[in-house]
Amino acid sequence: MNFSRTDADIFTPDDSLPAAALARVTHLCVAAHQDDIEIMAHAGLCDCLDEPARRAFGGVVVTDGAGAPRSGPYASHTDDQMRAVRREEQRRAATLGGYAIQIQLAHPSADVKAPGHAGVRTDLEQIFSGCSPEVVYLHNPADKHPTHVAVLLRCLAALRALPPERRPRRVLGCEVWRDLDWLPDDAKVALDSGRRPELAAALLRVFDSQLAGGKRYDLATLGRRAANATFHTAHATDKLAGITWAMDLTPLIADPARDVAEFTMGQLDRLRAEVAGQINGIIE
Ligand SMILES: [Zn+2]
Repeated sequence: MNFSRTDADIFTPDDSLPAAALARVTHLCVAAHQDDIEIMAHAGLCDCLDEPARRAFGGVVVTDGAGAPRSGPYASHTDDQMRAVRREEQRRAATLGGYAIQIQLAHPSADVKAPGHAGVRTDLEQIFSGCSPEVVYLHNPADKHPTHVAVLLRCLAALRALPPERRPRRVLGCEVWRDLDWLPDDAKVALDSGRRPELAAALLRVFDSQLAGGKRYDLATLGRRAANATFHTAHATDKLAGITWAMDLTPLIADPARDVAEFTMGQLDRLRAEVAGQINGIIE
């Protein structure tokens, strides 16, 4: 495997050869930053830990994490030092979560947001053609963070470039910045992220450089999962201890010509209709 950035990092916690480790991956998460994978795809890594003989989890972080705000013990860190700290944190998470492989492509955020950046495109194409995942976890198109949406769009382009028979069967856009509770119920996928609660907390706490400034992503993520599980239905008891909501993006891969913005606006239109319909139904 040869990626476009010399500072790209390929890590296999069990020391297996990277190409072989990537080929084994059945559940793949491609995210923008260090810590996004653990917020988005806890259900996927639990699925893999439950059936290690048949499943393997792979993580890809596209950016270098240099632009992160820093405070506390990290306040005086340079961009280079922050990159090194975050790379190491992501490796620790991969070890803790039993990932088959963790790839960090180390692209500056600006390159990911630049349309048609050749390095980003060839790196992602190399990854997607090096494995045959059943499920791919990506960011969702209604996310609030521009780098998340950029990474999603680059991933969709790379997946659409694969021959149809090589495209994954299921592609999910997961919540990080801005949740997906608003999606109409039949359009959202409930990822069971209430399993292995101690591991979930430990994985989120690995990213000390992000938590140290008082942004408690660990507590917020666990709280959101619990809230999603409880506020999902008014009249049924909680079946899952935690839910991460995802948007099913498979139609965007099945039909490469489908417009991503229009697809997303279609979901928002359904929310509008649902809210208006309920109000009007009660008034009359
Ligand atoms: Zn992020």
